[in-house]
Amino acid sequence: MTATVATAKRRRIMAGMRASGKLHVGHWLGALQNFVALAESNDCFYEIADLHALTTNFARSKEIADSVHDIALGWLAAGLDPQRCTMFIQSRVPEISELSVLLSMITPVSWLERVPTYKDQIAALGPEIATHGFLGYPVLQTVDIIAFKGQGVPVGQDQLPHLELCREIVRRFNHLYGDVLTEPEAVLSNFPAVPGLDGRKMSKSYDNSILLSDTEAETTAKVKEMYTDPSKIRKSDPGHPEICPVFFFQEIFNPGNASDIAHRCRAGQLGCVEDKADMAVHLNAALTPLRQRRRELEAKPDYVREVLEDGTRRAREVAARTLTEVRAAIGLTY
Ligand code: SF4
Repeated sequence: MTATVATAKRRRIMAGMRASGKLHVGHWLGALQNFVALAESNDCFYEIADLHALTTNFARSKEIADSVHDIALGWLAAGLDPQRCTMFIQSRVPEISELSVLLSMITPVSWLERVPTYKDQIAALGPEIATHGFLGYPVLQTVDIIAFKGQGVPVGQDQLPHLELCREIVRRFNHLYGDVLTEPEAVLSNFPAVPGLDGRKMSKSYDNSILLSDTEAETTAKVKEMYTDPSKIRKSDPGHPEICPVFFFQEIFNPGNASDIAHRCRAGQLGCVEDKADMAVHLNAALTPLRQRRRELEAKPDYVREVLEDGTRRAREVAARTLTEVRAAIGLTY
């Protein structure tokens, strides 16, 4: 079952981001704005998933702490209010690790091997990432949700198979040990994949991102290099804005002029150099308040640390209650 963000009733929402790199505009548009909106009317738990980062970045583990810090700054700068949601660091909630061991005992390996991204990622990143932890990450992901009795999980269509696996694990546990765990539902986010500088999905692994920590000048320089419609070489060539990532951003950040831009692009009256410069101005204008808040937060490291410590303390209280229930249901009570 799914619900749209607009129709969702107040409930426990669980979401997170992997601490494997810096936040970029794709995170902001595709997830973070939704996080902020959901926190207005739900009880939200937002996890900085550093253990998940280890599944693929175990050889570069020293980078994870910087990523955790960048995510915390990015979340707060984008408007997440620590009074309205619980932000925490995954590995600082050890109950998650114990719950993961317990759920791994009942999760068939065949369920994990059939996760679509499992083989794709090994093909993309190499056989060295095929570790026990990488195979088992859907179990850890399930625990991220059930530890906090998450009822709703904001996901895109492409993540539905992962959530379905989580639901299967929950059903198996409840069948074996009683009705203890909550089966989460998808809260579908309709936002399309945000294109990166090269036209593929914006992603750290493709090195095609505009970072939330980039300066105005860095952002403008990146937009200048952005991929456009390859058939539009000269200004007078008719373009196809519907396949152009620059136009994707114009529609979001310059909506009042988007139809005129599309018309002039198609009619050969607008050149890509001019359009990119215009788009960069509008994108920078939208990012200016985030950059300002980020600078303020960077000057208050104690505040950021306290937000995470306080959130992690609250998260642990909830996860500890779940762990007690799970241990009792299994019979691990001495
Ligand atoms: S004019 Fe603008 S919308 Fe058209 S192809 Fe160039 S950058 Fe894209």
